Amino acid sequence: MRTVAALLAHHPVLDRQGAVVTTAITNLDLHDIARSAHTFGLAHFFVAHPVAAQRQLALRVQEHWTVGSGARRIPDRRAPMEILSVVDSLDAALERLGEAEIWVTSASRAHPRLLDFPAARRELERDGPPVLLVFGTGWGLAPEITARARAGLEPVRSPRADGYNHLSVRAAAAIIFDRLLAPR
Ligand code: SAM
Repeated sequence: MRTVAALLAHHPVLDRQGAVVTTAITNLDLHDIARSAHTFGLAHFFVAHPVAAQRQLALRVQEHWTVGSGARRIPDRRAPMEILSVVDSLDAALERLGEAEIWVTSASRAHPRLLDFPAARRELERDGPPVLLVFGTGWGLAPEITARARAGLEPVRSPRADGYNHLSVRAAAAIIFDRLLAPR
């Protein structure tokens, strides 16, 4: 089984007009994605932000739940928050992981090599380098991240006639971890 990690990117991501921007860290993303990542056995949940003050904020939240009063009040949060790593960029996460493959996620078919979930599960069960699942914020990952990916995961689809499938990143991460890593 390959090592699997996730990264939440705050830059470079797109805004509503398709411009490349930097988004702010959302407290709920840290908790909810860390808990999902821990539940499904991911090795790391990286939160990448280029602005030092935003990284400090994430580190303060982490500290509250790993060594601060939050850890004493709700000890169940401690282990998930311990797999959180706050980094300044995707490259910093790749450096920590070694020779990892990037797999991007999107609500649209945003990569020429699209993996459906059964194929992705099979790839994870083989030996190979670690896989870094990359999630976006704002209006999604900028093309410069997608261009570095070895694959894109198929979108989580909707049964609706209009195909609406724009999930919060927290919901998308939980569904994708389950599809790739839940025991069968
Ligand atoms: N502010 C937003 C929020 O509420 O979380 C952030 C939206 S951000 C574009 C959502 C990210 O979640 C995408 O970049 C992608 O990583 C993932 N995502 C959302 N919907 C998805 C879907 N249907 N299939 C796969 N990934 C999805």
